[in-house]
Amino acid sequence: MDTNFEESKRLFIQAERIVAEYNDNFSHLIDLFEKNLIGFYFRKDNPKWAGKCKKTTEFEREITGKLIFIFVNQKWWNVTNTKQHKALLDHEMSHIGRKNDEPEYCKEIGIFKRWNPADNPSSWCIIEHDIEEFAGVVERHGLWELGIERIADACAIHERQMTINELIDTKGAKVVAIS
Ligand SMILES: [Zn+2]
Repeated sequence: MDTNFEESKRLFIQAERIVAEYNDNFSHLIDLFEKNLIGFYFRKDNPKWAGKCKKTTEFEREITGKLIFIFVNQKWWNVTNTKQHKALLDHEMSHIGRKNDEPEYCKEIGIFKRWNPADNPSSWCIIEHDIEEFAGVVERHGLWELGIERIADACAIHERQMTINELIDTKGAKVVAIS
């Protein structure tokens, strides 16, 4: 049978490397990989998005043994570069939240919070984006909300990847502040 979804060990390994590289941000995901509770799939019918992250339903859990699915648009993947691949996997994994609502006590450090068990589906949740906004609203109203300010700060530490034509177009153009 021709299927739209293909599990990818390669995506799994690439994502696991990102978790190791950005350990400060992703340490809560380590045992999700170790216990093989996250599944990566290429989707072949070119959906409108590049990637998607979801918690599995009870039925999907039973069939696959996974608690989290990450889907990647195969066509998008084929026409983008490794830097973009890495950013997409990072993005999708940033959607994965893990609860740590069971305080524990330890003599040395006092009360601390341990991540809830990896193999319990209710330990996991999906985190929404910091920002969902139209470029036009930011043009008209500036950094009007905390999420937008965070993104603007993050943008400020990266150079914009301009094309040669864009560079020529904007040469000598005035910089307009949006505050
Ligand atoms: Zn997203």
